[in-house]
Amino acid sequence: MDFLSDRIKSMAASATLAMTQKSRELKNRGFDVISLSIGEPDFNTPDYVKEAAKRAIDDNFSKYPPVSGYEDLRAAVCAKFKRENGLDYTPDQVVVSVGGKHSVINVIMVTVNPGDEVIILAPYWVSYYDQVKLAGGVPVIVNTTLENDFKVTPTDLEAAITPKTKLIIFNSPSNPTGMVYTREEMEGIARVVGKNPHVLILSDEVYEHIVYEGEHVSMASFDFIYDRTITLNAVSKSYAMTGWRIGYIGAPVWLAKAVNKLQGQFTSGTCTIAQKAACAAMSYDDGSRDKMREAFKRRRDLICGLLAEVEGVKIRIPQGAFYVLPDISFYLGKSDGEKVINSADDLAFFLLDRARVATVGGDAFGASNCIRISYATSDDHLIEAVKRIKESLKLLK
Ligand code: GLU
Repeated sequence: MDFLSDRIKSMAASATLAMTQKSRELKNRGFDVISLSIGEPDFNTPDYVKEAAKRAIDDNFSKYPPVSGYEDLRAAVCAKFKRENGLDYTPDQVVVSVGGKHSVINVIMVTVNPGDEVIILAPYWVSYYDQVKLAGGVPVIVNTTLENDFKVTPTDLEAAITPKTKLIIFNSPSNPTGMVYTREEMEGIARVVGKNPHVLILSDEVYEHIVYEGEHVSMASFDFIYDRTITLNAVSKSYAMTGWRIGYIGAPVWLAKAVNKLQGQFTSGTCTIAQKAACAAMSYDDGSRDKMREAFKRRRDLICGLLAEVEGVKIRIPQGAFYVLPDISFYLGKSDGEKVINSADDLAFFLLDRARVATVGGDAFGASNCIRISYATSDDHLIEAVKRIKESLKLLK
């Protein structure tokens, strides 16, 4: 008897988490694996944030919190939106959830009907695709190319819109490409949304503080689409708080209310201690964000310089986030004498086996010629990892 639902059977496992799990298992078995798979800062949560969490425990913040988040946290989110993004939101437009990923599925679940189309710009973050399918939506992929800096043009976006389009998922700085859209490029996209009043846009801005060149622009700052934009963010990447699981949205009130209703049946309000920590994180700047960004920039320069010397690997220099997405199509169809590399995923597994370097194959990102490398790790690891990758790739003929 098979008790599992069709829903779960048709869902792919998260490729980022699957690879991370695999490399953890190998490490536990004593293998010297360098993990460039999961995307998370290797820094610790700043001390002032940890202190706030300890205080929250001592002050007995141990009861159910409001479903959308504590009032002070939602006020801090509004202040952050105003200060950093120039956006006007009121606390009733904000819902705090269990990480950015939870915020994404919440928005999809309350807006997408079975059969509705959701436009996803490839390469895309792995979970968008399966979350849309879970809601019964139809993912419509708009491809971009390395030659075009992995950026969508307004013309390509417009061509993908149909009467059934409900939502566009947009992400800049991008995971996995590291590309940052300029204000002009974003305005082009905003204009397409503006022309299509039946379409919403979800702007995932979780990497906003990790921008090396150019500036981060919030989609909702184009006031003619403010009412149809959902701004999504999290403390995970900005404050090295991935494990605390705090994400949030700023949205039209009707949408925030719907997410509140959904969350009330699923998770209730997220962890009280994490909320207090997030509130402290957002209300003060101890300079950690700048320090982390400087470190990521140095590592970006380091790894891109090293990858440029690997035969057959093409890259675009990322302007933000902490990923680089090398095109490895040169190696597809080649073999080490034992196994033929038929896909980017095959190459990622080959690198794990031979080089003991964990990356993520591009297939789950809609980038079948690429592998994703997260460079949020030490310089020494990066140097050693690329050295091993280079040696292993030489085995492929
Ligand atoms: N955003 C990170 C990544 O892409 C976290 C892992 C995940 O949830 O996918 O690696």
